[in-house]
Amino acid sequence: MRRLCGVLNRAKKILNILKKHYGENAFTVSPVEPFRALIGCILSQRTRDKNASRAAIALFSVASTPQQILRLDPTVLRQLIRPSGYYNQKAKNIIGASRAIVERFGGVTPRTRTELISLPGVGPKTADIVLSYGFGEPAIAVDTHIHRVTKRLGLANDKASPADIKIALEGSLPRIDYSYTDGAILSIGKEYCKSGRPRCGECPLNHLCEKCGV
Ligand code: SF4
Repeated sequence: MRRLCGVLNRAKKILNILKKHYGENAFTVSPVEPFRALIGCILSQRTRDKNASRAAIALFSVASTPQQILRLDPTVLRQLIRPSGYYNQKAKNIIGASRAIVERFGGVTPRTRTELISLPGVGPKTADIVLSYGFGEPAIAVDTHIHRVTKRLGLANDKASPADIKIALEGSLPRIDYSYTDGAILSIGKEYCKSGRPRCGECPLNHLCEKCGV
């Protein structure tokens, strides 16, 4: 019980510091049409944002609904999304997800986590991003940065899985702060708390961090 209270208090203090550091409105979620959010997420797997963005622009310029994607020649689809890397596997997942949406969900992107995870190429992180950006339902999507930073901050133990991290963060903070927390911790991971050499001396959270190596 004392450990749980400690985590709750620490999470709230961390959120307050992040809001002062980045500003209250720094991580406002801009809504994206759900199917585009889904395909954008698949394209962003294992690549840089700019590569995923190039592929998404190319693909959506010719096909942006599941029905349109299913009408595309697979060779053309692979060429369109080539900038995102792993394009053979991604094309397979995009076709599979489009087919499942048409055949099982009447052509409409499903809006529950369980249904989203049942689609090819969609894991928990992708499902949470689609829920948050596509449907405006706050969810913390645990990626590699959030996984690492949360553990270093002492909000979860060293052996915590991404699912454990999600429970720890979402259980410690008000729902209204999920999107902000997601964006802010992701930024801390990219800017300061890098996997190789964390910049603890400049990190705004260093006085609260269990693994601070200032
Ligand atoms: S103080 Fe260091 S280890 Fe802790 S969150 Fe900041 S960069 Fe990461």
